[in-house]
Amino acid sequence: RLEKITKTFNAGRPNAFTALKDIHVALDSAATTVFKGPSGSGKTTLLSVIGCMSRPTSGRIWLAGRELSSLPERFAANVRRETFGFVFQNYQLIRGLSVLENVMVPAYPTGKKHWMIRQRALGLLARLGIDSKARYPVEHLSGGEQQRTAIARALINDPEVIVADEPTAHLDTERARRFLRDLWDLKKQGKTILIASHDPLIFDSPLVDRVISMRDGRLVAEDGDCRG
Ligand code: ADP
Ligand code: MG
Repeated sequence: RLEKITKTFNAGRPNAFTALKDIHVALDSAATTVFKGPSGSGKTTLLSVIGCMSRPTSGRIWLAGRELSSLPERFAANVRRETFGFVFQNYQLIRGLSVLENVMVPAYPTGKKHWMIRQRALGLLARLGIDSKARYPVEHLSGGEQQRTAIARALINDPEVIVADEPTAHLDTERARRFLRDLWDLKKQGKTILIASHDPLIFDSPLVDRVISMRDGRLVAEDGDCRG
């Protein structure tokens, strides 16, 4: 639940820019919500604030009854790691590491045993159909394979909330459909899914429970009014 969230970059300086203005919204768990809006409308900023990747300038955020916005950074980092799995817009895989290593990275700070992390990573790669590429350096993968690697990495800590920023921006239609099938699997497992996208293939999908439109850092319209 977000209450009166604002985010101002470079606050107090001449180049101050308010990217989120007075965002007030409650998001359902186990639902799939899409934030749609033109480039620059604040989608990425909102996802990063929700996912504890960055702090709001003002306002409050609750996650299942617990207030996050006032948590000290190290607690926020734990919430981020345990609760959220991120699929970034350009995947942000680590070059020079293999597919398997990339998937394992977010699990290292949890202190779990290396072999357990490795088993889980291999299982996820198999589920996503790219286990044959586990030892490849990520820079040798196609766009679709990079995305599947990014999805596996997002799932390594078995997060309750999956956050995907413009997940189909670099995919052809067939790969975008395949991504939607991956999301169905996650939805069936009861995951909460938050997506930023202006791709109709995403926001018109029956997978999506709610579409929230953004413009100039504000939420503008919902569901029926903004479809089609
Ligand atoms: P979207 O994801 O909808 O394209 P963003 O959330 O990336 O929008 O950006 C919203 C606005 O905030 C844009 O005008 C962008 O230039 C600005 N912005 C985003 N990040 C920063 C930053 N770190 N510093 C300054 N301005 C930023
Ligand atoms: Mg963006």
